[in-house]
Amino acid sequence: MSWSNSVHFFNIKFLIKEIKAKKVLTYHPNAFPTNWDLNPYRGCTIGCKYCYAQYTHKYLDLDNFFTDILIKTNIHVCLEKEFQNKNWKHEQIKIGGTTDLYQHIEKKYELLPKIYDVIKKHKNPIFIQTKSTLILRDFEIIKELSKITTVDIATSISSFDESIRKVIEPGAASAMERIEILSKFKGICRTTTLGFMPIIPLLSDTEENLETTFMLAKEFGINNIVTSFLFLRGEGKPKFMKILKSNFAEIYTDFSKLYANSTVNEEHSNRIQVKIQNLRRKYDLYGIYSPVEPIEPTKQLSLFS
Ligand code: SF4
Repeated sequence: MSWSNSVHFFNIKFLIKEIKAKKVLTYHPNAFPTNWDLNPYRGCTIGCKYCYAQYTHKYLDLDNFFTDILIKTNIHVCLEKEFQNKNWKHEQIKIGGTTDLYQHIEKKYELLPKIYDVIKKHKNPIFIQTKSTLILRDFEIIKELSKITTVDIATSISSFDESIRKVIEPGAASAMERIEILSKFKGICRTTTLGFMPIIPLLSDTEENLETTFMLAKEFGINNIVTSFLFLRGEGKPKFMKILKSNFAEIYTDFSKLYANSTVNEEHSNRIQVKIQNLRRKYDLYGIYSPVEPIEPTKQLSLFS
């Protein structure tokens, strides 16, 4: 692959290439909370060490999901075409389901405001999920959008301990900042959802981290919390284990025993689930999310001004 340019963020060099996409809405059969995904970028500068999407770069013959970034500069043009297709049912779409929509490169390319223009025109429901404070740049746009269509917003956090966060999610905002982002959209977006994920055994499922997560979510008025344990598969597993060994050697042996397979040991998982259930009751915070019903094309069209 020949690269168009390179940029530096937080002392890391990223290779970038502008591409022209042909089709931008992707269907995922079992995805949450919607089956449709829109990703302005391939690769992700946020750099989470547990990232499940890393394998997607293999299909592009690229080595590094975190530093080799492709930019779909015509994404808004393609989206407009796909929305105009008579078979499009105006289902909710998730922006940034595979890679973070507000990753650092968005600051330079400003693709989101162009995408929101198309969303606004078609009043198509959206779900936005990010770990970046850059979303606040578009606060007023999202606020306006929320008045004419369903906008749901989410973030995910793993640890409030910044010394852990800086290793496992080096390009993300702190967990506290992410909760503050969600709270800014409270009463503006239909729902605010906090993903407590991935739960990393022995690192992020401590009593203190569990309690802090639920306590702050309640205090900041977040609507839902969904939780999920770390999943380690394929090449991602040895890579993650290496990072664990270099940075958190004190838990490495015990952690290895919990991850004989790709999922956490059942007994450990059950124990933490009990604690989570207790916290759900204590803070009255659950993971309830009502999907957005698709609007019939004819009905939706009648809403166009
Ligand atoms: S923000 Fe999401 S896509 Fe980006 S590296 Fe982290 S987990 Fe992967």
